[in-house]
Order: sequence, then C-alpha cells, then structure tokens
Amino acid sequence: MTAVRQFSMTHRLSTLRSDLAARGLDALVVTHLPNLRYLTGFSGTAGAAVVSHTQCVLIVDFRYETAARALVADLPQGLIDIRLVERTYDDALGDVLLESVTGKAAVEGASMTVGRFNRLADRLKQRGHTDPATVLVPTERIVERRRAVKDAAEINTLREAARLLSEVAWRVPSMVRHGRAEVEIAADIDMAIRNGGFERPAFDTIVAGGENGARPHARPGKRQVGEGDWVVLDFGGIYDGYCVDLTRTIPVGSGRSDLSGVAAAVLEAHDAAIAAVRPGARPSEIDGAARQVLARHGLADAFGHGTGHGLGLEVHEDPRISKLPGALPDDPVVPGMVFTIEPGAYIPGVGGVRIEDDVLVVEDGCEVLTDVPIGF
Ligand code: ZN
Ligand code: ZN
Repeated sequence: MTAVRQFSMTHRLSTLRSDLAARGLDALVVTHLPNLRYLTGFSGTAGAAVVSHTQCVLIVDFRYETAARALVADLPQGLIDIRLVERTYDDALGDVLLESVTGKAAVEGASMTVGRFNRLADRLKQRGHTDPATVLVPTERIVERRRAVKDAAEINTLREAARLLSEVAWRVPSMVRHGRAEVEIAADIDMAIRNGGFERPAFDTIVAGGENGARPHARPGKRQVGEGDWVVLDFGGIYDGYCVDLTRTIPVGSGRSDLSGVAAAVLEAHDAAIAAVRPGARPSEIDGAARQVLARHGLADAFGHGTGHGLGLEVHEDPRISKLPGALPDDPVVPGMVFTIEPGAYIPGVGGVRIEDDVLVVEDGCEVLTDVPIGF
C-alpha cells in the first residue's frame, strides 16, 4: 500500500460523505464490487460496506479476512473497520446498519437485488416496528459519477495499461492469416494479453471476419478468415484492476474493395471524434462528430451504437459517449476522464469496420493513450 493509495482512500471516502450530505443521506450501503474496490481498495469477489458520516465498515467473509486486515492495517487508523460475516452477508449488513446508522441509508439501485433490499428493509422494520429509525433509499451513480474522473494514480495505471495493450496489438496482424479460424485467433490474442502483463482479458475477445463483422458483438466461431475479408478484432485487458479496450479492423490480402470506402469513412469519423474531445465538450457533441462524418458518407444507418464508453475499474462505465442523453446526463467531459472512441459501420451480409482507441481528457484536448497503426 503506497502513500498515494492511502491518500486516495481518505479522499474518496470524504468525497462520498460530502456527496451523501448534499443529498440528505446518512449512509451508503456499497454492494457494487467496483465501487467497493474504489472506496476501500478491497478487491475480493464478494464483500460489502456501509459508509456513514463517521464510519466505514467493510464486510468480508472468512476467505478474505487476511487480505482485508492487511489492507486496513496500512490505512490511517479508524478509516475503515472490518466486520466478518458470521452467517450471511444480509445478516451482517443488517447488523451494521442497525448498529451504526440512523436515518436514510442509500443503496445502489443498479446492483442491489430486490431480495436483499426486502430482507434488509424487514430487518430495519423489526427494530422500529412500523416506523423504522433507518430507511433504505435507492440511489443511482453516486460513486460512479466520481469514478468517471480519474486521479493521478489511476491515470498512470491506465496509461501503462494502454501502452501494454498497444504492444499486444502490434502483434495481432501476424495472427490474422488466411485459413485460420476466428476462435484460434481469439485464443492467441487472449494468450498475448496474459503474457503481455495483464491479469486477464477485460471481456470476451471479438474476432469477426467477413460477414460476421457486420455484427458489432459477434462471438468468434469456426469460420476461417480468408482472402478479401475484413476482420474486426476487439480486445482488452485488466491491469492492476483497470480496463483498457482496443479495436482494429484488418483486411486479409487486399480486403473486399466494397468495404475499403467504409473503412476510410470510419477512420475519418474516429479522427473527427477524437478532435472533438476537449474539456467542456458534451458526450453528445463528441458522438455527433463521428456520426456526422458517417452520415455524410451515406452510413448513418450503419452506425447503431454509441461512440464510446468510460474505462476504469469496469470496462463499460461513465461517461457514455452517445447521442442520446437518455438515462444518463449529457454533462460536459472534464480533464481526467478516460474513455474509448469507437465508431463503426456494419453492412449486413457484407461485413463491418470498427476502430477503437482510448483517450484521456486533458486541459487542451485529449491524449490518445493507445498507440497502434490503424492497419489499412
Ligand atoms: Zn472494444
Ligand atoms: Zn469498447
């Protein structure tokens, strides 16, 4: 545990407490594991926390006791307390809530199950009979919104992760050869990711040749890539907990000529979106920069997904670089945000092209963290 990390946890918990106070909330029940890791440094596959204005109780089970105690021992005294699960996580969460929280306890609406919510609510009612002293309040994105803006340590990690992923990407064209099946190529990429310094791939690697490329999230199959195919290769890795993500589309041989114009248009859209990234730009504007280029080339209907997504402890997180504010606010991007730029065009029955890079918003624009030739 470094001094940087100690500072991070102290700072993140105090930021969370301000966010809770601003919303009139007395505590947050943290059940979404990436948020738990962000706030406490705990990276187990199960765990929870209750953060009130005076306490942060990290709840872990037997498997993680040693790791959790080591983690907390390196933090300032009293910053995080540990509670061991004796029977179930729900019981332990209920106990901690009853002991240490009065008032409004926020829960993470996107991750808490209805079953757990009801069990906790029943438990709290038992104490207060019909008028519990503590009530559960569903909330959205309190921690996620903060996670979208990376601190210096996170930026260093993501920069290094993107450098390592670029090294993997440099080797990918040699794996894409006439007669090789998509699944074989995907397995090679996954091995290169692990050998390249990553904990594991960040998601299921996509290798989609020929007409399969027309499906943005195609699963690699037995189809062999052949002369004339354009092959969409989308892969990522997790490095020290942080995800990076990259796509290149490579022609085998000369590639079908009917897709070369599409490829040029997607590249132009990719460059236009990157040029639009600067503090103050709205996600919808960045998305629009890519979309307008594709529309000008008659490909408006061929681009059916958003232009990018945030990267961090999750491979898809805030901000969403999309045309529809929809469920998420279209708040301007700020320095420290890291996200992908990945326009694509998909022509059913023919194929697809997507180009994806990872960018960091900086004061005067953006820094492209991934560094690989486009490949066509
Ligand atoms: Zn990707
Ligand atoms: Zn992506």
